[in-house]
Amino acid sequence: MKYTKNNIEKKRTELSSAKVRRHAKISLFLFKYILIISIVLIVTVLGLGAGFVRGILKTTPQISKESVHSKGYITTIYDNKGTKIKTLSNHDSNRIYIPLSKIPQNLQNAFISIEDERFYTHNGIDLYGIIRATFLGIKTQSLSQGGSTLTQQLIKNNILGIQPEKTTIERIERKIKEQSLALELEKIASKQYILEEYLNAINLGEGTLGVQTASQKYFNKNVSDLTLSECAVLASITKNPTRYNPITHPENNASRRLLVLKKMLEHHYITKEEYRKAVSDDVYQRIKKNASNPSNENKPNTYFEDALILQVVNDLKSQLGYDATKAYNAIYSGGLKIYSTQDSQIQKIANEISNNPENYPAGTKVSLTYTLSVKDINGTDVTYTENNVLNYMKKHNLGNSLIFSSSKKAKAVSKKFRKSIQRTGATILNEFISTPIQPQISITIINQSTGEVEALVGGRGAKTSNLSLNRATRTTRQPGSTFKVLSTFLPALDYSKMTLATVYDDAPYHYLDSNRPVNNYYSGYRGFSTIRDAITDSMNIVAAKTMADVTPNISYKYLKDLGFSTIVANKITSNGKTYTDINQSLSLGGLTYGVTNLELTNAFAAIANGGTYHEPSLYTKVVDQNGNILLQSDSKSQRVMKRSTAFLLTDAMEDVITKGTGTSASLASGMTAAGKSGTTTNNYDYWFSGYTPYHTASVWMGYDRNTDFDSNDLHKKIWSKIMDKISTTKNEKKISFKKPSSIVTANVCKKSGKLAIDGVCDHDPRGNMIVTEYFEKGTVPTQTCDTHVAVEICKKSDSLANKHCPEKYRKQKVYIVRQKNSPGITADTPYLLPEKYRNQVCKAHK
Ligand SMILES: [Zn+2]
Ligand SMILES: [Zn+2]
Repeated sequence: MKYTKNNIEKKRTELSSAKVRRHAKISLFLFKYILIISIVLIVTVLGLGAGFVRGILKTTPQISKESVHSKGYITTIYDNKGTKIKTLSNHDSNRIYIPLSKIPQNLQNAFISIEDERFYTHNGIDLYGIIRATFLGIKTQSLSQGGSTLTQQLIKNNILGIQPEKTTIERIERKIKEQSLALELEKIASKQYILEEYLNAINLGEGTLGVQTASQKYFNKNVSDLTLSECAVLASITKNPTRYNPITHPENNASRRLLVLKKMLEHHYITKEEYRKAVSDDVYQRIKKNASNPSNENKPNTYFEDALILQVVNDLKSQLGYDATKAYNAIYSGGLKIYSTQDSQIQKIANEISNNPENYPAGTKVSLTYTLSVKDINGTDVTYTENNVLNYMKKHNLGNSLIFSSSKKAKAVSKKFRKSIQRTGATILNEFISTPIQPQISITIINQSTGEVEALVGGRGAKTSNLSLNRATRTTRQPGSTFKVLSTFLPALDYSKMTLATVYDDAPYHYLDSNRPVNNYYSGYRGFSTIRDAITDSMNIVAAKTMADVTPNISYKYLKDLGFSTIVANKITSNGKTYTDINQSLSLGGLTYGVTNLELTNAFAAIANGGTYHEPSLYTKVVDQNGNILLQSDSKSQRVMKRSTAFLLTDAMEDVITKGTGTSASLASGMTAAGKSGTTTNNYDYWFSGYTPYHTASVWMGYDRNTDFDSNDLHKKIWSKIMDKISTTKNEKKISFKKPSSIVTANVCKKSGKLAIDGVCDHDPRGNMIVTEYFEKGTVPTQTCDTHVAVEICKKSDSLANKHCPEKYRKQKVYIVRQKNSPGITADTPYLLPEKYRNQVCKAHK
């Protein structure tokens, strides 16, 4: 022994304590020795006499190799490039399984040296260790500490479970079970197998289980990359993960690490040089630094992750017959690999733009979400919500809306309310206040060619909890005019033999089943208008009239094919009232419940994808721990409209952006885009849904509680900012939408939708009404325009010219013919054929 300073001091301490306490120690030693011998004797006697041990062994579970395998593992979520974006675990599953071949020899040896130095030679029980521990145990008053082999520890962890042992009998009973099972396990499993399971099972503090997660937690690297010094840190933790936690108790861990290294040196696992190098490593500085790094572990799930987890749960239930518990267990402790469809680049773009306050109307407000649970004076549990707060406010003249100018004001009001409840003698059980920023937003971005959801924004402002209100996937809102295209013009073109040139008279009109008028967002009426005009300028009356011809039943069928799950066919409420969305107001998006952003976006994605619908998916596959595919998104697709229909709608929706209601959404990048705006009648909801040849996206802006406001087209600008940023970031090639071969062109008259007559339709007093329109083959009109009439008048008599009228008085004029009794004054009214030109012939010339 070298007489280093430490050794000398240690020796001195031992000697002096020996001298002083020799006497007392001997008697105590004898006493305890006798006590132990007695216990052993009693146990033996009991065992032999009353079958105590046999009894215990009877209740000892059967053991197999598989039964010692740890149960809980981390689930990992990847983005669509295979990059890890999130891990999911709970308190007993924060574990990543790693084979022994990837665990450094030094780490294996470190654990063996400090926990079970005769691991490779004992048969499950370390007899020498037990005897030694019995004597040491006498010294430290603890019988359970020493002599527990890695095999026993594994059994304790994974078979018997760690439970408090209340009595000595219980303790002995468990020890016997543990030892007998350890002997059994060693008969059926190799040392390698046991060591691998052990290193993957153990608790290493900070909520980590197994060496891989611990390595990532403390050193931010894989276990295979650990240095000797780092291996020693991990091996030091296991004796007592709280006391030897290297982050919170580095000094405790340090002294045990030194012991680990000494033992490793002693057993010739490492050289003196390696030992010296490891001892001098300032490993705790690194651990401290890693601990202070922000990690995503404790952050709440993102909106995308929330929606993804719900989809996986649903699919595990519906496709594999899991119940909810089994599905959640699989997700939080099944060690799954979930390959999501999230495009991290696109998600980041959407997050940044949707969280920039400059992209919202000035004067941000907040709303109040409130729950108060109390036990009232009679002992009854009562729950109050923000609606009770609102009633209280109205009663006490504190305002009549749950929208506040600041969070502080919202909280002050809810505090007044709470006090008023307390004054009734109620006891507060629980209070929840949340004041989300308003107006809110939701965004869905889908790759239309696959149906893969690339990004979701379920709201703006900090997300503080899992499964908080997801406005993109859970909230239903009225879709407004975005719905015209889907509910009305799509089936009109696809089923009802109409074309983009089909004309309706934009004139005063009311719904067929009521006296309720259909209003336009603009004043006045535009007269004869094509479906293309109606899409471009979002004309309500034309849409409602088209719906009348399409019929709501056909519309409903198409909407179901487009994946809308929230549309009501027939619902009878408790008061006997029947609700249905199968009526004419489907045309303008007046629905019982509304739609989710996700389903609306995905319906547009079907048009963007040439008429083929994909079920929206948030993952491509879910793989279990053994690499078996549990779920695979089969990208179920079906044609829900003709290619030609998709192209025609797309072409009209390009007009929306270039010259219609969506010019604020035009893309600075020059990328081709098509889309449709939507605003609900009370100015509660603002939508823009549209697509480039690559992505389909919808932006909704509004208050969580219906509140009218002016979006100032900012929702359209958010849409274009996002689409522009995506196309420039991804350097997407500027291409146009693909025109199918079933599309032909023809020159038609905009006022009749029929074949144009040269010299007539181009001589409308307002200008040339002949347009070249796209048609599906076979739908080109065959009749010629009968809305325009050309008449020859005689200026002299202001009547129809006759054959005698001289050339100098003759004048050709073009007029519009409108059915008699057509209601109202429209833009066409000044150009209608005057009655006199119908039947008065010139009398001045004969
Ligand atoms: Zn015409
Ligand atoms: Zn005349």
